[in-house]
Amino acid sequence: MLQLKEIKCGKKGCSKCPHGFYVYAYWRQNNKIRSKYLGKVGDPETQRKVDELAKDHPRVTAEYETMYLESTPGVKEKILKGINTPLSECQEDNIKESVSNANAAAK
Ligand SMILES: [Zn+2]
Repeated sequence: MLQLKEIKCGKKGCSKCPHGFYVYAYWRQNNKIRSKYLGKVGDPETQRKVDELAKDHPRVTAEYETMYLESTPGVKEKILKGINTPLSECQEDNIKESVSNANAAAK
């Protein structure tokens, strides 16, 4: 599993504390909890490490995506708004297009 952490730098008068979000991966290996620091959310380098980790732990990709969305201001609100908007408010053409897109993606 992945976990988000906020980091306190400890500098006096730092107005940006806590800093973050930083991604840590935790997994169980030989009955021990292992952990690995992956980097800051949204960094290309972090994404690379997540991809690397996903070879052995496929779930981390989805966990990281959720994390990334939750750490990006406004994105979560947009998604929630989308969920709360009924399809009846949708334009006919848009529905057709999204259905054909979904079909294309399923192939
Ligand atoms: Zn700080």
